[in-house]
Amino acid sequence: MRITVAGLGVSGVPAARALAGLGATVTVVNGSDGERQRAEAAELEALGVTVRLGDGDALPEGTELVVTTPGWKPTSPLFRAAEQAGVPVWGDVELAWRLRRPDAPPWLAVTGTNGKTTTVRMLAAILEAEGLRTAAVGNIGVPLVDVVLSDEPYDVLAVELSSYQLHWAPSVRPHSATVLNLAPDHLDWHGSMAAYAADKGRVYEGNTVACVYNAADSATEDLVRRADVEEGCRAIGFTLGTPGPSQLGVVEGILVDRAFVANRQQQAQELAEVTDITPAAPHNIANALAAAALARAFGVRPTAVRDGLRAFHPDAHRIQHIADIGGVAYIDDSKATNTHAAEASLAAYEHIVWIAGGLAKGATFDELVQKSAARLRGVVLIGADRALIREALARHAPDVPVADLDRTDTGAMPEAVREAARLAEPGDTVLLAPACASMDMFVNYTKRGDAFADAVRELTAPDH
Ligand code: ADP
Repeated sequence: MRITVAGLGVSGVPAARALAGLGATVTVVNGSDGERQRAEAAELEALGVTVRLGDGDALPEGTELVVTTPGWKPTSPLFRAAEQAGVPVWGDVELAWRLRRPDAPPWLAVTGTNGKTTTVRMLAAILEAEGLRTAAVGNIGVPLVDVVLSDEPYDVLAVELSSYQLHWAPSVRPHSATVLNLAPDHLDWHGSMAAYAADKGRVYEGNTVACVYNAADSATEDLVRRADVEEGCRAIGFTLGTPGPSQLGVVEGILVDRAFVANRQQQAQELAEVTDITPAAPHNIANALAAAALARAFGVRPTAVRDGLRAFHPDAHRIQHIADIGGVAYIDDSKATNTHAAEASLAAYEHIVWIAGGLAKGATFDELVQKSAARLRGVVLIGADRALIREALARHAPDVPVADLDRTDTGAMPEAVREAARLAEPGDTVLLAPACASMDMFVNYTKRGDAFADAVRELTAPDH
């Protein structure tokens, strides 16, 4: 088959490599032409792949299938050309799904605006505690194509799927799936909130056992209702409150299952304690419930849910505790790159000095500030779009002291942390949850979090 791969990078290169290995005639097109692209091109050309750098718009002659990487917008001219020529377009996830072997393991799939990586890792930890051979895969590093073609005998996969990947994955049919939550994000790519939601909702298509939704976010339940699932597939809710029948929830600090039990009208099964979850912040308890629901849908025992949650530790920069200094806790949630994530983070602490700002990506901050105002001891603003947050604070939290650093250089972080330390009182939390992307000041959110942690450590340095 003559296949055109749209894009190099972390999913384009493995896709092209896999397809060439299977005997396809592969051409990779890529709009940009830099040093990294040339190195990747050289690697692929050695395998017989043709690579066209600097031209991503034209459909190569004779193309029978286009495989796209997530970065490409649906409006790209290449896809229009494919449509006109009657050529199908698959994403990297669709490709992986189609290349599965006949005895391939089922997928338990996770999507949502925030919490995907955390939930998928929790799920994998629970499945492992059950003694199953599994891996956390998908939108978290390991290319799915490589996983499905490997000889590793998996029993089940915990798959993180982004809205981009779901957009181009029409035939993926998970065993069970969840949309954790829905808030505006990536709207420039999808075109509208409705289109974004519809792409997320694709994850429920063809589910066989359970569609897991967030009872506190009715949009996720609507997506379940709209999905075309297999006969007998159930809608299962998760809630931070007392669960109804066919839900998982929390009763007096205990995670309970009222869905996968013999008599769900009268009975509930204890799964774990809230204190088994790290960190036990409300949004993270929700993530744990979603992971537990998917695991239970797969038949995992309650004790394995508990053991898996105990074994799980979050990745760095996600509500990571850095230090306690003078009775003040310093927390790095640099991964809170949008307002929805920051809101969850701010809801987890009583008295907060909030470090925020960066690139707003078109977001507004009124709702976030309104909901969090009562918890704010003070705010330190950094980054390019900090005026947007400052104005929202002036409107909804005029009494909260604000230190506006008027800086967008990488070196601003130590000053931000010193300001925050000055504003904080014993018992408070200094929280880096920027609600913004980091690229105005840092290479990425990881570097931003590292800069915060370094600055916190400097607070205790002997010469300070
Ligand atoms: P994703 O993979 O979807 O980006 P992560 O698990 O990496 O999600 O978490 C990203 C950030 O989103 C976290 O640092 C936290 O601030 C926030 N977050 C995590 N889970 C939730 C949730 N269930 N609801 C809202 N925000 C969340």
